[in-house]
Amino acid sequence: MPAKIRSKKREIGEKELCPCGSGIKYKYCHKKTTKKYFEFDNGDVVAEVAIPQELVNQLEESRKEFKNIFGRSPYKSDPVFWNRAELKENTILKRTKKVMRAAKVPEELIFAYEKTGLIIASDSPATSRAEREEFRSAVKEYFQLKEDNSDPFYIFTYLDSHSIIPF
Ligand SMILES: [Zn+2]
Repeated sequence: MPAKIRSKKREIGEKELCPCGSGIKYKYCHKKTTKKYFEFDNGDVVAEVAIPQELVNQLEESRKEFKNIFGRSPYKSDPVFWNRAELKENTILKRTKKVMRAAKVPEELIFAYEKTGLIIASDSPATSRAEREEFRSAVKEYFQLKEDNSDPFYIFTYLDSHSIIPF
């Protein structure tokens, strides 16, 4: 069996044009933000969103605890927050998402659900104004990310991966 070759990636050079298409140098554009661009050996460019240090610490704690109990590091398929409450929530979320996809619920609503944990159809009376606002802003974010040519769901897979850039 041939060995798996993993393409290396590097952050975009400061003097190169920012891949976001702004027309200005990376150094003066996204380099300054929490969303950074990387290029793989094969020329593919990806955007990565940094997550807060606090969350990075939590993930690190979770990983250590996992190792203590299971005697190995978590695989990518293991939930990052593997403790019982989080695990349950994660499973429900994934199952709900599957059902939503099967029911052809628009992607922006699935995104908003994943982000906020809320399912809001038009003006559901059971939700608070703050919740509706949170949901609406998540929907807006979905379209912004799309416009930015980013995969809106990337942040979620990002949280599942092992490469985390602290702020
Ligand atoms: Zn940019």
